[in-house]
Amino acid sequence: MRNHTDKNKQDKRTWRTFTAQITFVVLFFVLGLFFGLFHNNKQLVESEYLSKARSHFDNIVMTRRWSAQYGGVYVEKQAGMVSNPYLINPDIHDVTGKTYTLKNPALMTREISEIADKGGMYRFHITSLKPLNPLNAPDTFERSSLEAFEKGKTELVEMVMDGDHDIYRYMAPLKTEQSCLKCHAIQGYKVGEVRGGISVSFDITESTRSLARQKYLLIGLFLFTSSLLFGIIYRIITKLNKRIFETQRIMEVQAEKLTLMAHTDPLTGINNRGHFLELLGMETERTERYERVFSVLMLDLDHFKSVNDSRGHAAGDEALHTLCRILRTSGLRASDFFGRIGGEEFAVAFPETDAQGAAEAAERIRENLEKTAVFYDESEFFITASIGVSEYKTGDTQETLLSRADKAMYRAKDTGRNRVCREI
Ligand code: GH3
Ligand code: MG
Ligand code: MG
Repeated sequence: MRNHTDKNKQDKRTWRTFTAQITFVVLFFVLGLFFGLFHNNKQLVESEYLSKARSHFDNIVMTRRWSAQYGGVYVEKQAGMVSNPYLINPDIHDVTGKTYTLKNPALMTREISEIADKGGMYRFHITSLKPLNPLNAPDTFERSSLEAFEKGKTELVEMVMDGDHDIYRYMAPLKTEQSCLKCHAIQGYKVGEVRGGISVSFDITESTRSLARQKYLLIGLFLFTSSLLFGIIYRIITKLNKRIFETQRIMEVQAEKLTLMAHTDPLTGINNRGHFLELLGMETERTERYERVFSVLMLDLDHFKSVNDSRGHAAGDEALHTLCRILRTSGLRASDFFGRIGGEEFAVAFPETDAQGAAEAAERIRENLEKTAVFYDESEFFITASIGVSEYKTGDTQETLLSRADKAMYRAKDTGRNRVCREI
């Protein structure tokens, strides 16, 4: 019983571990799937930002190149317009008295940036580590990018918060081109040299918010899918588990029935010869190991053949049932056990009992049998038995012990039947 409970507990533990492992694997898989989806999306969006930033950068470099190849462009100077203070003679006048001022690439870049910024589209900033115009001085990101360009980096990005806005920033180096030399050759510029950089910034609040919304949506979906899968797995496993337990239980019951059948005499329902001898063997060993006392009796019904002959086989069977009832009700101890050795021969084992005690019990059985009527077919008859008793001696096996009881039983037969004889 205890073994059975332990096994049940162990089985439950195994199932629990199995369920936990399956759940873990599925959750891990689903989590990986959702994480992968989100990560992939994020990367897509970021690569969108990058290509947008590169495209802005290329546009401004192209515009600068256009301007540089003409050495800057002159625009008509309007009222309030300030000439570029970093140029020598930025203004020219025509014969009609109009004034034109030179917009060199650097100034043009800054002015376009201001227009783009006002339009709320994007912003760019031309800068260098040693700017002529203090307005072109780099901020922290630009400075560290410029330093990185000197070490060979080709572009840098960062995403920052500006108030409650998310800003994407990109920076790439600005290299001296042939067209730049028109004005900057005096400063010793060489083609291909990094002279500064342009940073491009634009607002990504909308897409970061939608990315965040998507993240929460995916988390929600993950939780929903996981609980759904967990529910399904739990249901399947519980059903499977139940079915297996039921099958196990049925098999155990069947095995118990089979064992019982293998141990039981089909007519009387008591221990059969095989099982009785097995129990007797164990008791003999125990008696020897612990130096205890142990006795057995052999019982054979008297003139039983004539019962069968005169009253029929079924009446004989009823007599055997009556004998078994008497064996059960003759005050044997719980530790005593008995079995049908064959035909109308029975044996009773008395652990922790000497021959004297066993003979007393045998006498009780004999007396009860003698005075108990066997009822069959609305008539009754009486039967008797001859009983032999033997006590365990060192070195005995179940066979030797039993055969001495058998001998004593034959002595009882020989000396008149319906009596108990102890071995001599
Ligand atoms: P004794 O006093 O010398 O023992 O005489 P007996 O007639 O009992 O001895 P014997 O061994 O000659 O007869 C045993 C009889 O037991 C033979 C058989 O008909 C009967 N018998 C054996 N098994 C069963 C059984 O299962 N049912 C019935 N009804 N009779 C059985
Ligand atoms: Mg016999
Ligand atoms: Mg007999």
